[in-house]
Amino acid sequence: MDYKSFLIKYAEIAIKGKNRYLFEEALAAQIRRALKPVEGNFTVRREQGRIYVDTEGSYDYDDTVEALRHVFGIVGICPVVLLADEGFDRLKDEVLSYIDQVYEEKRFTFKVNARRARKNYPLESMEINARMGEAVLEAFPETRVDVHHPDVLLCIEIREQINLYSTVIPGPGGMPVGTNGKAMLLLSGGIDSPVAGYMIAKRGVSIDAVYFHAPPYTSDRAKQKVVDLARIIARYTGPIRLHVVNFTAIQLYIYEQCPHEDLTIVMRRYMMRLAEHFANECGSLGLITGESIGQVASQTMQSLAATNEVCTMPVYRPLIGFDKQEIVEVSERIGAYETSILPYEDCCTIFVAKHPVTKPNLNIIRRDETLLTEKIDALVQEAVDTVEVIRVEAG
Ligand code: ATP
Ligand code: MG
Repeated sequence: MDYKSFLIKYAEIAIKGKNRYLFEEALAAQIRRALKPVEGNFTVRREQGRIYVDTEGSYDYDDTVEALRHVFGIVGICPVVLLADEGFDRLKDEVLSYIDQVYEEKRFTFKVNARRARKNYPLESMEINARMGEAVLEAFPETRVDVHHPDVLLCIEIREQINLYSTVIPGPGGMPVGTNGKAMLLLSGGIDSPVAGYMIAKRGVSIDAVYFHAPPYTSDRAKQKVVDLARIIARYTGPIRLHVVNFTAIQLYIYEQCPHEDLTIVMRRYMMRLAEHFANECGSLGLITGESIGQVASQTMQSLAATNEVCTMPVYRPLIGFDKQEIVEVSERIGAYETSILPYEDCCTIFVAKHPVTKPNLNIIRRDETLLTEKIDALVQEAVDTVEVIRVEAG
């Protein structure tokens, strides 16, 4: 079947009252953005609480569906046949021809689900269901009706045009990116932070990112891995401004001055401070991390409290109650896992102490930081001044 249009189903945004218009506009914009790299000519059209993607000429069906599967706000992608109303007999022929083309194997159960959104159509929904069902049974005797659990739900919606579809490809759900402000993701090369970014973006939040790089202790390949992860997230969010911060001098200084068991916490506090600086610069309203209670020494309740203390912005930790396995499942589903498990070094692991504190005392951590007064402001300023901002596109 050569489909020329897709009907886009969305749920959550339909209930947003008078904001609905803005949400639909945002969804249409995200769909256009996602389809830009796909081969073909697409028009995204809003009509009576629906969004259609119309194609013109040849296009790549699989790539189109794949692109749409990355647009938050979409619940279902329905390849649809749009027909002019030329009477019921003509519609019947179209439906039979549709079934013949779409279902090679006719031994299926089905149900006709007609909806008369245009009330001047001469037949009521129930009549359409009955008459069309009969026509299908007659034309394809191997089929059977099952009104409870049909293999094929044949949807016929009588609107300005008649919409005929029976395939609903699941979308990612959520809300269109851009409808809920922006946040700064602390993106490392691990499994957790890309998932955290995905989850917040799914709620309609635009994402920028910051990565703390520690050359020569972390390699160019480690940095490239983070760029690659940002690319994967950008499939869902659109382009991401990735801030690559040179963190080496700060880490070395902390290493020289502070007790080694406190290194990780002090270092993480500087990461948060810097992330917040860039977040403010970009107009972000919060920070996002991949932290989860108890996963490592720096993620105990005490450690999280110590890290959190330096932030004035809200810090979103969507994985806070997730087990690793649950995080891995999302990572695999969103296509990040293979990249996340590549074995390049991480700046946190290089300077990590053998026995980091698991219950840091805030007074001690604050005192540690007084040991840094001589140079830390200049080093932080230097990190700010030498940041490299990479615009990462979907890939
Ligand atoms: P991840 O799998 O996301 O790397 P993790 O389990 O390794 O997480 P940590 O290394 O303690 O945990 O990091 C906790 C969070 O801090 C990360 O999820 C990420 O948001 C942030 N983070 C850690 N290291 C970096 C870094 N080098 N650059 C940017 N953010 C980082
Ligand atoms: Mg990590």
